[in-house]
Amino acid sequence: MKTVVKKINPGRFQDVELQEACCILQEGGLVAFPTETVYGLGGDALSQGASDKIYHAKGRPSDNPLIVHIADLKGLYDLASDVSPKALRLAEEFWPGPLTMIFPKKENVPMATTGGLHTVAVRMPSHPVARGLIRCSGIYIAAPSANLSGRPSPTKAEHVIEDMDGRIDMILDSGPVGIGIESTILDMTADVPLILRPGYITEDMVREVAGGVSIDPAVAAKMPKENVVAKAPGMKYRHYAPHGQMVIVEGKPEAVAKKINDLVKEKESRQRKAAVIATEETKEMYDCKEVYSIGSRKSEGSIAAGMYGILRQMDTIGAEFIFAESFAEDTLGQAIMNRMLKAAGYHRIKV
Ligand code: AMP
Ligand code: MG
Repeated sequence: MKTVVKKINPGRFQDVELQEACCILQEGGLVAFPTETVYGLGGDALSQGASDKIYHAKGRPSDNPLIVHIADLKGLYDLASDVSPKALRLAEEFWPGPLTMIFPKKENVPMATTGGLHTVAVRMPSHPVARGLIRCSGIYIAAPSANLSGRPSPTKAEHVIEDMDGRIDMILDSGPVGIGIESTILDMTADVPLILRPGYITEDMVREVAGGVSIDPAVAAKMPKENVVAKAPGMKYRHYAPHGQMVIVEGKPEAVAKKINDLVKEKESRQRKAAVIATEETKEMYDCKEVYSIGSRKSEGSIAAGMYGILRQMDTIGAEFIFAESFAEDTLGQAIMNRMLKAAGYHRIKV
């Protein structure tokens, strides 16, 4: 299959530029498109055939459900039942934006889209191109992240091309995304909203609007335990992982740099390729040929935005061992460390 890459200026585009993409979606094909979180791999959520194609293109296990993207509240009522006043308040506050909510599904949503579950995950993205595409096509778009299963999520069109060229019909290239980390997933089928995946909308932000919030024990755990099963099926898979063996080193900056420098020296003495994931503030502290800054410690947003690109870069350079600094697990840091720990297979050292 030939994959067409089409540039769309997110700040200034006309609906006619999306027409070809809309036709592809209406005919059951696949289009990757930007959202404010990461690039998504879109298909018609109400078509079993289109959902099947998404799983196939990603190599995604078929029990890992897709998030359905809508452009207005009518979409929510078309897809979901039992929308509580609390869910509406959250929608009013955070939509359009990086929040996904889970509801009992309506009959019209095929089981292929929900990975065999009777619930459906719904999100209203804020990215103008994502909104334009849903609106112009008139389609509710099922879209997981547009990466091959197990690879870091794509934050630029180049990442999507790396993984999806020849596997899907079209890629809309609107440059780098703003947030860079996937949406917060909230299960609204319980009395108290339950966070299944931390994201840009933090626990405190949800609590303030919903009055209460809990967090899936499998997500809160520092280590995956065998007896705690993640409620979001996707959270159980090894995710976001570079090919090299990654370790997160925790402690005071000087102690972390010393430990990492020792580890790098040991690997390099055996002709093994090591790389360091540092920050703007600390990158000069390392004696390693491959030191990458993920962002600035003064801005958690810059770290979220840089994270997946750096994890991909580790594969591009062929790093066999990756030593990464750690980040405070508060606010957005909770989502950042959730992804970093998964990338490292929960391998961490304290110094
Ligand atoms: P991705 O599309 O790559 O961002 O992954 C979507 C995430 O949403 C996965 O972790 C899924 O398991 C989760 N998800 C989607 N639908 C549901 C649902 N109905 N119930 C629980 N988790 C869901
Ligand atoms: Mg994903």
